[in-house]
Amino acid sequence: MEGIAERVTAVHQRITSAATSAGREPAEITLVAVTKTWPPETVLAAYAAGLRHFGENRAEELAEKRPYLESHLGADNAKSITWHLIGTLQSRKTPLAAAHADVFHALDRLKIAHRLARDLVENGRAANPQFTLPIFLEVNVSGETSKSGFDCTRWEEDERQTAVLRAAAAEVTSLPGLSLAGLMTMAPWDAPPEEVRAVFRRTRQLAARLQTDLALPTPLQLSMGMTDDFEIAIEEGATHVRVGRAIFGERP
Ligand SMILES: *Cc1c(COP(=O)(O)O)cnc(C)c1O
Repeated sequence: MEGIAERVTAVHQRITSAATSAGREPAEITLVAVTKTWPPETVLAAYAAGLRHFGENRAEELAEKRPYLESHLGADNAKSITWHLIGTLQSRKTPLAAAHADVFHALDRLKIAHRLARDLVENGRAANPQFTLPIFLEVNVSGETSKSGFDCTRWEEDERQTAVLRAAAAEVTSLPGLSLAGLMTMAPWDAPPEEVRAVFRRTRQLAARLQTDLALPTPLQLSMGMTDDFEIAIEEGATHVRVGRAIFGERP
């Protein structure tokens, strides 16, 4: 467990040098510590090491760990934590996500957005005028068929793909309790670095296109980069990196 603090320091240093070499401010980048499959005690250790953004890919696991940390840290301390749901959501799990997520990174179809909005109204979170659930639209630009997300594999040529994404972005913006945060993507598995970079770069360009087309007032954020590729992602504009193994080691 005490290795976590050292590894967090090392990851922060790598974030800083990737940002600096790309002419960016390290403070623009949020490190989301991916705690999936680790027990809640490990998340407490990560909190003690200074981490405040945690990522879970399953709504059930989030629904267990968040209350655990709240009861161990006290409600006031636990308020400093932001819980990111980073994995694709099945429609029957939206009530759990709506109850426990502070940010959702993997919206892959509009049906899920409608259900989340309904659940946020039902559970009362949307009644708070300060509250919105920031939503990242997951995009598949790599063409790997195993990847979920809006099909943006040929967005530069295929006007229909950008039209679908534009409509989804507009819909998310208009739904109660939701706000549009940006785009999320995953690099192809085991691809060479140039290919990974191209995926991240095309995702950034797609976000810029969406920004212009919808005349959005605030810049879209980019959730991209994991243990094996977060430096490339930062060089290509990532604002959120989702890092598990570099902090916690191989998952149990
Ligand atoms: C597991 C996971 C990560 C973290 O992966 P590491 O390789 O451990 O850094 C990031 N994003 C998503 C969506 C994940 O499911």
